[in-house]
Amino acid sequence: MDCSKMDCIRKGHFSNDQIEFPSEERMKKRAAAVIECCQEIPCNPCMEYCPVGAIKVAGNINAVPTIDFEKCTGCGICLGFCPGLAIFMVDLSKNHGVVTIPYEIEPPDQGEIVDLLDRAGKVVGEGEIEKVKKLKQHDRTLSVSLKMEKDLVKTVRGFRRKK
Ligand code: SF4
Ligand code: SF4
Repeated sequence: MDCSKMDCIRKGHFSNDQIEFPSEERMKKRAAAVIECCQEIPCNPCMEYCPVGAIKVAGNINAVPTIDFEKCTGCGICLGFCPGLAIFMVDLSKNHGVVTIPYEIEPPDQGEIVDLLDRAGKVVGEGEIEKVKKLKQHDRTLSVSLKMEKDLVKTVRGFRRKK
C-alpha cells in the first residue's frame, strides 16, 4: 500500500494534493467526476454504471478506480452509485465554480446560502445551492450543486446549512 492510501485511511480523507483532478482546461469545458476512493475494497459500481467506460477498476475488484477525464461526459451517474459517497463533480465551465456532491438527507433549498466545507469539515467560504436534483438512474441519492468562487472547486467537499 502506498503512503497516500495509508495517510487517507488514517485521516479518513485524502489531502487536496493526493487527489487526481482534471486539468484547468478540461474543467473549463464541462463538469467532470473526481474520485477520492482510497479503500482497497471489493467494489466497482462506479465502473459498472459509467455509460462511457470512463472509470476503470483495473486488475482486480479491490483496486482503486481510475478515471479518464477526456471520456467523462460529466453526466453525474457514477456519483449516485458509489456506496462510499466518494465521487463528486467539479465544473469551471460557467462564470463561477460548481462542485456537485451526493446527498442523502433532507435536501437544502435552491438559492440557499450555505457555509462551504473542506474535506476535514472546516469552513472555507460561503456558497449558494445552485441545484438539487435526482437523476432517474438513482434510487434516493440526490445531487446537490454548490455555486462558489472558482478557486474553491478543488477544496470544497461539503456544506453546512446556516438555518
Ligand atoms: S460523470 Fe458520467 S461519464 Fe463521468 S465518470 Fe461518472 S458516469 Fe462516467
Ligand atoms: S463505487 Fe465508490 S467506493 Fe466503490 S470503487 Fe467506486 S469510488 Fe470506490
